[in-house]
Amino acid sequence: MNLYPFFESAVLEMNRRQSESLGDRTQYIGSSDVAGCTRKAALQRKDPKSPSVPTLLKFARGHAAEWMLDGIFQSSSTKLHYDRQVELKHPDMPLKAHLDFLFYEDFDGNPELHVIEVKSVSGIPDEPYPQWEDQLHYQLGMLRLQYPKGNIGGSVLAVDLNAGEVHQFNGFQYDEAVFNYLYCRALHLLDVLNDHDQPQASPSHLCSYCQYRQDCPAMSLPKIALPPEIEALAGKYAELNSSRIKAEKELKAIRQELTDFTGPSFKGQSGRFSLQVTSVPPSLTVDAGLLKQQYPQIYPTVLKQKSGYSKLEVKQVKQAA
Ligand code: SF4
Repeated sequence: MNLYPFFESAVLEMNRRQSESLGDRTQYIGSSDVAGCTRKAALQRKDPKSPSVPTLLKFARGHAAEWMLDGIFQSSSTKLHYDRQVELKHPDMPLKAHLDFLFYEDFDGNPELHVIEVKSVSGIPDEPYPQWEDQLHYQLGMLRLQYPKGNIGGSVLAVDLNAGEVHQFNGFQYDEAVFNYLYCRALHLLDVLNDHDQPQASPSHLCSYCQYRQDCPAMSLPKIALPPEIEALAGKYAELNSSRIKAEKELKAIRQELTDFTGPSFKGQSGRFSLQVTSVPPSLTVDAGLLKQQYPQIYPTVLKQKSGYSKLEVKQVKQAA
């Protein structure tokens, strides 16, 4: 039985069904549009293109992470008061926000609104991405419009399903100035959609999933002639780097399977290989974002100089068909 012929259309249909709760996204601006790239958000409405199957499968991973967390929250010994997929509407403008989870009280039973934005990742980043922070701040602002009084906070929950890791980036609070800035970005996007303004491209880690990358001005580089020996070196570098990236991905997957077999502590040797696994215990680290937010006067006094370095990127240029 060959699954491929039906796979593409079925994955598209699955994605459509899973996104049904978001309604017709061409009729409003959502929090991910406000936090993301204006050019992409505008083109998604004016020139819709289906994402590739790998991108759709990555979207599905996000739904799977939410479903898993819901199961975990429901299994808590304490009854948690929360809702999933909460829709917030701006009173006057076609602006909405969809909250993955909205908690109505903390674990002590004290009333507090806490938004959780779930992000499915391959590898938990050291710091939340700026787009994640903007999306959450916008959601907190939209929530404040609906609930003018009381504590409002939020966190980003990054889930790496492959590695079985979850990390909470916590401590976000409603911030009027940040929300006003993001609200202006939403109004700018409305102007762009009404042809009153030009969209700006904002490159980010999400560009790799963008269907409008091909002709994106932020991705185009000036044409130059390179000396042949430099061109050859660049080719070799790109080739080696791509093998390294592939090898690192493969290593990560194999490492996971090996440690699934060995557990966190293991020593042993077959006729051909010795295998040792040791555990590094969890440790505490300073959350720079939280420090900056809660102690803005202290933050500059604990900064230290980090030396700069040259960053080299060499990529194969795609030839036009
Ligand atoms: S490639 Fe990046 S910068 Fe360009 S439109 Fe897509 S998301 Fe925006």
